[in-house]
Amino acid sequence: MVSLETLTDTNHLSRYLGQGIETLAREDPDVYRLLEREHERQCESLSLVASSGGTDASVLAVAGASVVNVTAEGYPGRRYHAGCRNVDELERLAVERAKAVFGARYVNVQPHCASFANHTVMQALLDPGETILGMALDQGGHLTHGAQANLSGKLFKVHHYGLDDDGLIDYRQLSELAQAHRPRLIVCGTTSYTRVIDFDRIREIADGVGAYVLADVTHIAGLVAAGLHPSPIDAAHFTTTCTFKQLYGPRGGLIMMGRDADALGDDGNRTLSQRIQSAVFPLMQGSPEVHTIAAKARALARLAEPSFRALAGRIRTCANALAAALTDRGYDVVGGGTDNHIVLFRVPERLTGVLAERALESCDILVNKNKIPGDTRGATVASGVRLGSNTVALRGMGPAEMVRCVELIDTVLANTLPSQDGGLHLPDLVREHVTAQVRGLCRDFPLPYAA
Ligand SMILES: *Cc1c(COP(=O)(O)O)cnc(C)c1O
Repeated sequence: MVSLETLTDTNHLSRYLGQGIETLAREDPDVYRLLEREHERQCESLSLVASSGGTDASVLAVAGASVVNVTAEGYPGRRYHAGCRNVDELERLAVERAKAVFGARYVNVQPHCASFANHTVMQALLDPGETILGMALDQGGHLTHGAQANLSGKLFKVHHYGLDDDGLIDYRQLSELAQAHRPRLIVCGTTSYTRVIDFDRIREIADGVGAYVLADVTHIAGLVAAGLHPSPIDAAHFTTTCTFKQLYGPRGGLIMMGRDADALGDDGNRTLSQRIQSAVFPLMQGSPEVHTIAAKARALARLAEPSFRALAGRIRTCANALAAALTDRGYDVVGGGTDNHIVLFRVPERLTGVLAERALESCDILVNKNKIPGDTRGATVASGVRLGSNTVALRGMGPAEMVRCVELIDTVLANTLPSQDGGLHLPDLVREHVTAQVRGLCRDFPLPYAA
């Protein structure tokens, strides 16, 4: 244990990080002021954005350390540069911690983000023009699951599955499309789905047509790590995630494998994990972000602590309470509730998702507009709002506070009128009242890194 005195008097790293902030404030007040303002904004606003997390100060410190100066192309023990002794150890630590947290047999911690992780899996397996099956973007899939606007949609022949009339993944459609088009890869994992994903069922469908399965668990990775959502690690051939949403880590990605790690790929001479290893580097990326890898190691250690299980439990309890409180107030909650951190609801008839988002943001309640099943509006307008409980759970809030949050959301939406110029009208008195309540909640439940 390093004492605080040791840290301030003799620890080079702490002096370096502290001096960095002092120098910034003195020499570049423009950037410093914006960073300060952003810190305050996060502390004082109620983020219910489903993709939001919150990064511990220790994770930020790691990401800001001088380890960033090391160029380390390659992998531990096999780098293309000298001077990699410590980053080798850090990368090995990150890999071992990820394996332990997720029960994986192979992990690559180098992907710069989840999007890159998904592209990398595709590049490891497929030739351009081959067929993939992914969830449609407007049904909850991600851009990198084969959307037209994304490279994945341009390089491959894509077929899309979606949700059934009850808002559940349409496994029957998925199976029929798989039979009809014989994809090489089935991509699952979503951005707005509120129910449990049946990875075993998807694997069964894939096995029936000889396809690989990529499970992108970016949104639910924390619940998976805590054992509160079935794990895809062994069910899917490949599991990808970002590290900054529900893992509360730095911006980055992971590629993980379970029981298929040592299986031979269909080229017959390399294992699937060997193909991923060479697809990350040198096929897709250059030198790894060693500071981010170190920060991933730090964040992964936090996931292994008992307090993270408690946090994951609170994520679920808060989301359930949000869904119940919305239902109590007469809102139409998609799927009737939630099994994870996401709650999706239809906004009142006279509003749109985007107007609701703007009205709430004007009171420092942050949400995002989202299409709902059968939505006739486009994604930039939408008829629904998506909430997520990652950040409120991190603040230590519970069901009682979620009831208050929904009360505030309802107050804003009930008092918002669309104006003729396409904007919105919300009486100042309501805005002031709600903003004050938000401030109070944020003060009573500060972010752990607020101080
Ligand atoms: C957010 C998200 C991503 C993208 O993550 P980046 O790290 O920003 O590239 C990928 N897949 C899903 C399902 C996501 O929700």
